[in-house]
Amino acid sequence: MADKGINPKTTHYKKGGATPIQYVKGVGPKIAGLLRRKDIETVEDAFYFLPRTYEDRSKLLTISELTPLEYGLFKAQILDVDLIPLRKSKRKILSIKLGDKTGNIYCKWFNFNEHYMLNFLKPGVNVFVSGTVSIYNGRIEIHHPDIEVTDEGKDTEDKIHYGRIVPIYSETEGLGQKTIRRIMYNLVEKFTSSIEDFMPPELIERLKLAGLKESFRESHFPSLKEDVNALRDFRTKWQKRLVFDEFFILELALALRRRGLKKRKGISFDVKPEWQKMLESRIPFSLTKSQKKVISEIIQDMKHSEPMNRLIQGDVGSGKTIIAFYCAVIAMMNGYQAALMVPTEILAEQHYKSFKKLFGEDFECRLLISGISKAEKLKIKNDAEAGKIPFIIGTHAIIQEDVTFKNLGFIIVDEQHRFGVEQRLHLINKGTPDILVMTATPIPRTLSMTLYGDLDISTIDEKPEGRMPIVTKLVYENKRKIVYDFIRTELKKGRQAYFVYPLIEESDKIMLKNAKDAAKHLSEEFKGYNVGLLHGKMRQEEKDRIMKDFKDGNIHLLVSTTVIEVGIDIPNATIMFIEHPERFGLSQLHQLRGRIGRGEARSVCIMMVGTHLTEVAQKRLNTMVSTNDGFKIAEEDLIIRGPGEFLGTRQHGIPGFRVGNLLRDIDTLIISRNEAQRIVNSDPDMTMTVNKKLKEVLSHRFKNKMEMINS
Ligand code: ADP
Ligand code: MG
Repeated sequence: MADKGINPKTTHYKKGGATPIQYVKGVGPKIAGLLRRKDIETVEDAFYFLPRTYEDRSKLLTISELTPLEYGLFKAQILDVDLIPLRKSKRKILSIKLGDKTGNIYCKWFNFNEHYMLNFLKPGVNVFVSGTVSIYNGRIEIHHPDIEVTDEGKDTEDKIHYGRIVPIYSETEGLGQKTIRRIMYNLVEKFTSSIEDFMPPELIERLKLAGLKESFRESHFPSLKEDVNALRDFRTKWQKRLVFDEFFILELALALRRRGLKKRKGISFDVKPEWQKMLESRIPFSLTKSQKKVISEIIQDMKHSEPMNRLIQGDVGSGKTIIAFYCAVIAMMNGYQAALMVPTEILAEQHYKSFKKLFGEDFECRLLISGISKAEKLKIKNDAEAGKIPFIIGTHAIIQEDVTFKNLGFIIVDEQHRFGVEQRLHLINKGTPDILVMTATPIPRTLSMTLYGDLDISTIDEKPEGRMPIVTKLVYENKRKIVYDFIRTELKKGRQAYFVYPLIEESDKIMLKNAKDAAKHLSEEFKGYNVGLLHGKMRQEEKDRIMKDFKDGNIHLLVSTTVIEVGIDIPNATIMFIEHPERFGLSQLHQLRGRIGRGEARSVCIMMVGTHLTEVAQKRLNTMVSTNDGFKIAEEDLIIRGPGEFLGTRQHGIPGFRVGNLLRDIDTLIISRNEAQRIVNSDPDMTMTVNKKLKEVLSHRFKNKMEMINS
């Protein structure tokens, strides 16, 4: 889902741009309705609806020149039209024979609208045909070609669809390629001249950006001199200009917002050296260099009166929690309240326990989750409002919606990747506390720039010493017994194991192993050991009891779904067994694997797969085997799955782009970010005349979101 706060979808920046699409020649109410499905409402939307690919139809071949397996376009006459019934079925094949001076060819359709096709495919008619040539029974054929009557005399049509590089748009049911192309052609013809470039001339010149008008024209209906491969790869300067615009406007909004946030008056915390000594004495280990560096970055921010908005990126197990503790204490020593928000209740409880231990008697810490009684909840809320509780831990939803604080000074958001940018904006409305966001999903730089463009970033790039690296194995079904034997020896040593399944229970839709059945079967398999079952559909108290039993060592083998994916910290668990790993995203697998390798014993992650893995799945899983580096895995995940799916279906706050593509256009993204920052540095309120049009575009694009940007 695109983030609402920075949704680049609704733009309007030029006279005529807001014209409803209906006013384009060839678009009536019916087609307008179909175009709406493509998010096209206005002329401007249509301009940004770029072709998904291009075809070089500049060269007309003869039939004898057609090459098997290659694309070909030719002009021919229909010689014969035949409907061939399929045996044992009501369906038919449409077969037509075509000929020109050089030879004959058959074209076939297996799915077609009989009435429609027979209406215009008649012997004697001249047609344009294009498609990929195949060989069948030793002769060439084209299956499902594009076929159009030549309309001899109607040369505008020919000009749009043939004898040129033609754009291929994404289609929608009821709206065919030719219709869309014709509409786009009319649009470009009629409206391009009214486009006004909004980019400051200095920038156009320095970056050698192509003109906006030409960019639209050439991207939709390229002239013959363009290289069709460059077009397909979005490498032409025309396409790059449009990509730049899209990224640039977004980055400009983020840069302004970054600046707006800094401008607010926040809290200037006092940080006394003796507190730091006291804190270090409480922490049961010595901090890593990375942890120290990040803490000092946060402390710098805290001292400043600008409100802090900082993201800590650190791989699973890198030790983020202790940093949160450290800084929260400083806030509380200054007399402020602090809050920690986490995505799951299990995690809330875990943090609650470790914070209570760390705080000792000095700071009261309360847990606010849906599992507690109404009376208890009310009391916590009242106490928070009265300023009586210095520290609250809870799920994001509860704290965000339900609690008012007397003097909230510090907010920590754990496992941020599950929350969108929008939610972060709401947080800020709770006053001007310092905000620390912690994410365990390492995000490739390109994504973090768009996701967190309004945050400063600190990275923990090392893990605490003394950890044995995790060994990861991809194992096939036929080795199950050996694997189980291995796990048994580990259990014998007193270690514990996680078994993770993609499903809670049996499903008639997909044939996969599930947690419930596995729990039964594993109790048999591992007789003498206690097997626990944990999944998202269980009541909170039940989940808590199971987790506690596992943590206390009463459960040896925990069967679970991905509910344990986030944050759980049980150093004695050293085995992670994942069934059907191909069903999980790479980053998710990495998170799961991050549950082990938290102590000093050697940990093993076993991914058990059935026999048939697709090549892509194989490649993904091999990435897991070959690296433990969360950043590398995230990059790989992004490359394989694309940004849209990168973080699964969860709300991820990645804005949807119409033109740009985070993978393909990384360079442009980086340039656009630098340029946006440069503009905001030199003209913080965007009041200079050169930036006037730019500012207009910005406010059109973000409409009522501007106050968030300027906040
Ligand atoms: P994450 O970054 O995944 O949230 P945690 O904060 O849960 O990681 O830390 C993982 C484990 O490492 C915890 O058991 C924690 O107590 C321990 N830990 C954190 N920092 C250090 C350190 N500097 N030295 C040793 N152990 C540490
Ligand atoms: Mg954590």
